[in-house]
Amino acid sequence: MADEVLPTADSLALVLADVRRYLGWHRDVAGDALHAATDGAPGALSAAVSVEVTVEGSSTPPVVVEYAEVPGEATVITEALREAAPTPAPGYAPAVIPPSLQPGSLAVPASRVVPAVARAPEAVVARASDEAPKLDQVRRTLGDCKRCKLCSGRKNLVFGVGHPRAKLVFVGEGPGAEEDNQGIPFVGAAGQLLTKMIAAMGYTRDEVYICNVVKCRPPGNRNPEPDEIESCQPFLEAQLDAIRPSVIVALGKFAAQTLLRTDTPITRLRGQWREYVGVPLMPTFHPAYLLRNPAEKKAAWTDLQAVMARFPKPVA
Ligand code: URA
Repeated sequence: MADEVLPTADSLALVLADVRRYLGWHRDVAGDALHAATDGAPGALSAAVSVEVTVEGSSTPPVVVEYAEVPGEATVITEALREAAPTPAPGYAPAVIPPSLQPGSLAVPASRVVPAVARAPEAVVARASDEAPKLDQVRRTLGDCKRCKLCSGRKNLVFGVGHPRAKLVFVGEGPGAEEDNQGIPFVGAAGQLLTKMIAAMGYTRDEVYICNVVKCRPPGNRNPEPDEIESCQPFLEAQLDAIRPSVIVALGKFAAQTLLRTDTPITRLRGQWREYVGVPLMPTFHPAYLLRNPAEKKAAWTDLQAVMARFPKPVA
């Protein structure tokens, strides 16, 4: 039965792609801790252990993954998969991977592995045919915005990127230098981490929507000021109204506090489902904060897993 549903080689490849994405994200977020441990002080890393990954009911031979842990940090990987999995098909959504691999073998239940063909981008994108004229309209209304003082220093207004009918929207704080240069949100260092977080969740940037509280870069990457947030907030709200997502992820203090109209610190907000005009909202740490505080990656991953659980995987 399992093999009828699962072309075995493909299934294992998809599972491996998941493992690689998940572990790769941990490795990236671990950043300095991992490199210090591996380059400078090998003793700081626990001995690498091997995990054999198989798909239950599949005749494909297991593939070995090696990983190790940095004490006090979350699980990180010393070596990516020995056997690279092919790039998954577009729209592929992941099998469920346990948050921390244990030494030994990992048998992924076949029921959790769905062929790529059954996992279309519809998992996170609502209606491809109903492309949002409303979102374009919001952009046109924003125009060559001069509603606040941030306009004077910007190179480009950074409206948003992604699918206009995404079910999952990420809201950040405001553009940095690279975003200002390119006119695209989250393309600098923090953006690269966000892209990996999205990939670790099994999605691509094209399947979700990414935008910010303020659309123009605050000079020197300072925090956006209340009057700037106030000027931009109607446009963020209009964007969300046009997209009509099923879930919003608020990245960091400014996104969470602005959308929830609260001044509760992000450390208390994160990880708890809230609502933004009836839409479930998950506050989590900003990727820039995670780059500075890799130990928080575990908490952020827990938050993202809660988000992933809101998007049931199609059953084969
Ligand atoms: N940080 C943000 O909050 N948004 C961006 O677009 C880039 C970095």
